[in-house]
Amino acid sequence: MPTRSPTATGQNPLRVLPSALAIHDIQPRILRALRGRTAREADLVAALQLDPLAVVRGLRAVHAPAFRQTRAIPEVGRIVQSLGTTLCWRLLAVPTVPTPSTSPLRTLWRHSVATAMAAEDLAGRSGLIDPQAAYLAGLLVDLPAWVQLLHQPGDESASPSAADWITHWQLPSSLVNLILGCRSRNLNATLLPMDVPGILQASKRMAALAGFPSPLGEQEDDGVDLAKVDLESANRLRRRFETAMAAFGLDEGAIRAEPPEVTLDPKLAGGRSVRLDEAIISLLDCNRSESYRGIVTAFTSIALRHGGYDRVFYAKWNAAKGTITLRCKADSSSRKLVQLRHSVTPAERQALATAITDERPVRLEAPLRGPIGLLAGLSTDELLAVPINSSFQQPSFLLFDRELSARPIDLERDLSMAVAIGKAGTLLVENLLLKRRRQRAQKFALTDPLTRLFNRRMGLVALDQEVARADRSSRPLTVLMCDLDHFKQLNDTLGHLQGDNALRATADVLRQTMRKADTICRYGGEEFLLVLPDTAPADATVLAARLFTAVHQRGEDLGLPITVSIGLTTFRPGDTSETLLQRADHALFASKGYGRNRFSADVEPADEPTVPRAS
Ligand code: GH3
Ligand code: MG
Ligand code: MG
Repeated sequence: MPTRSPTATGQNPLRVLPSALAIHDIQPRILRALRGRTAREADLVAALQLDPLAVVRGLRAVHAPAFRQTRAIPEVGRIVQSLGTTLCWRLLAVPTVPTPSTSPLRTLWRHSVATAMAAEDLAGRSGLIDPQAAYLAGLLVDLPAWVQLLHQPGDESASPSAADWITHWQLPSSLVNLILGCRSRNLNATLLPMDVPGILQASKRMAALAGFPSPLGEQEDDGVDLAKVDLESANRLRRRFETAMAAFGLDEGAIRAEPPEVTLDPKLAGGRSVRLDEAIISLLDCNRSESYRGIVTAFTSIALRHGGYDRVFYAKWNAAKGTITLRCKADSSSRKLVQLRHSVTPAERQALATAITDERPVRLEAPLRGPIGLLAGLSTDELLAVPINSSFQQPSFLLFDRELSARPIDLERDLSMAVAIGKAGTLLVENLLLKRRRQRAQKFALTDPLTRLFNRRMGLVALDQEVARADRSSRPLTVLMCDLDHFKQLNDTLGHLQGDNALRATADVLRQTMRKADTICRYGGEEFLLVLPDTAPADATVLAARLFTAVHQRGEDLGLPITVSIGLTTFRPGDTSETLLQRADHALFASKGYGRNRFSADVEPADEPTVPRAS
């Protein structure tokens, strides 16, 4: 019988106690202290600097292969900057965990924080490592002890070690080496100068000396000569520790007292005020989006807002290759996806394939020890994968995750929202594709393929509209009929292809010369109809003059003898499209009669323009 490998969600110590500050009588104080303030980023940094477990979760999210941007050992400030304040709140605002006041976890917490402070101090003095990075390393150097204390006994033979977990969390490797390396190290060097593991070891020692011993009593035989750790530094450390705690109402006396009543702002905590009805209305609203990207963006942010997820990704699934390509993410962080394509593990592949076949969301769970796949790429232990457009050759997934706030995905509660989003997403994408296809068909029916101008039918519709408008508003309306001169000859001597080029070139010139409100259409073979609303004959004359020059110039550029003749007329009360067209045609005929490459007007005498002619 195959044995199931231990899953990361089941036993993850970071789910047992997701934040050291989640200890029930610590968290309300810190939230209350943070609430009244305005400088939120700095406050979050200060709060996270007291919380090794939340920092591990933040570091995981920042350092995930899909984002991997952090330097070797980052600073807490960089984590906060990279995640943004909203997501950082979720690191702290997790459900509280009752912990007896005698719990060694509290002792370990004080030890970890004091070690971090000592490491920062020692690093500053040695110049070996950036003090802020040393702080973070000092804060996390006790991770094995945390795992040991949080460990939930289960099947002992399969139970993971602290090293297993620390490896699984994919923290920066230099940090992992420090954490794991420090455990077995014997330190007997002088205090300064020393190497980085030495700094960490001495920091732990200093923390113990300042009154914050490790509950596991590791320091006793680490070989540090107590005399070398100066007492003055230890006293300074104690004062600094107490000041930092007091800033958040976490001083010893306060912690023993009853914790204050504070309710969590559900928005900050990514609360589960899931309202399916609101989500559905927002979903249907995506219908207005004209772009695929717009739909995807709307979707991911709806899932984020209404589903209470920390992060939502949109990914394309390639079943044949077994790869998933992350296309975009929705969360409030500034992190950019860097490694877009992920291979999936065989188990992930099977689950995703099932989701596509059944058109149902699936919950993916990371094994503790196993090949690197999608979940490891996102540094998450659990994902809800919602299929979209399962019938497409390349279906997509929305990937929902709550790793930062360490709240489990509860299929029963999350499923209806996920199903609604998946089905609506599928419909909206299909709808968009249909809409585009229809628009393309419409466009095709209304335009002339050679010149991409409107065709005759569309030109006549526009003319009818403008005639009606001119009739109502008594605003001027001018109509031009243009015809290429001796076009048959051009075709006969240079060939039809060159004839087509001449038509396209003339169409381009018309497009560039006319205004936006004008309608240009290919009326017949080498005839173009121009409808110019709000244009008096004098203005049309200027336009026509520009047209002659531009057509001539373009012909020269192409080595084609292109000239046009133009007939012009203006709207008169009682005119219809037909009467206007007749007069324009008549004027055109006159231009041809006068020798071509010119325009004639059939207008009321008062409107008579001066007749331009190309040179
Ligand atoms: P005029 O100066 O009097 O207008 O003489 P013309 O030769 O331009 O006029 P005519 O009406 O005798 O010839 C028009 C020619 O336009 C005939 C036709 O083969 C050609 N034509 C119509 N449509 C197209 C087209 O799409 N491509 C090409 N290459 N030629 C076309
Ligand atoms: Mg012609
Ligand atoms: Mg003609």
